[in-house]
Amino acid sequence: MPRWGMTIDLDRCSGCQACVVACKQENNVPFATAEDLDAGRGIYWMQVLARVEGEWPHVRMETMPMPCLHCDDPPCTKVCPVDATHKDSEGLVQQSSARCIGTRYCAQNCPYTVRFFNWKKPEFPGAFANYRSPEVAIRPKGVMEKCTLCAHRVKDAQDRAHREGRRALRDGEVTPACAEVCPGRAITFGDLDDPGARVSELARSPRAFRFLEELGTAPKVFHLRETRHGDG
Ligand code: SF4
Repeated sequence: MPRWGMTIDLDRCSGCQACVVACKQENNVPFATAEDLDAGRGIYWMQVLARVEGEWPHVRMETMPMPCLHCDDPPCTKVCPVDATHKDSEGLVQQSSARCIGTRYCAQNCPYTVRFFNWKKPEFPGAFANYRSPEVAIRPKGVMEKCTLCAHRVKDAQDRAHREGRRALRDGEVTPACAEVCPGRAITFGDLDDPGARVSELARSPRAFRFLEELGTAPKVFHLRETRHGDG
């Protein structure tokens, strides 16, 4: 049984936000109006956090892509009164729109603020409506949503492997949308329990860390510390 996880190499991240756009497109993440954003009601399954230091022209910017971290001990799942969210047998923290009754307790209990509530019916303005993905169900008003690490791509690959008579996926056989489009190849996905998998090699790197590790949530998304500014 795999234990899916991800590494994000901050040395390779330029902050271009291609991952954010690809994730929105892949997962039918609804658009937000200026009013929605002013009210703090935008929805992002992938965000790029940025920290800017210094004054022009001596400015330094650090960026940090931030999906759901698929914690091994997820605090979000412990407060849902209807079991709409749970960690599955392969370590992915799943979210069921059909079960969700919109208490938003999970968002309160996620220390990484990567869960989002649908305050209104999802909107895909103009031509964007033509590009909705048939692979991922659109979430209705009144339920929570978040990154799945492209669980539908994992399922597709497992179905294909099953048809070919294979029990396990090959390393690198599943690539989430964010990893696929990253021009710096900063994002790696795979089985953390496979010691030969690229993702588990990277997760063992001395540069690897888990965001807010002291909370004990044990994220399965590891970031690799930035060294290009000479502080790693
Ligand atoms: Fe839950 Fe937040 Fe951890 Fe994702 S990052 S599993 S939403 S606690």
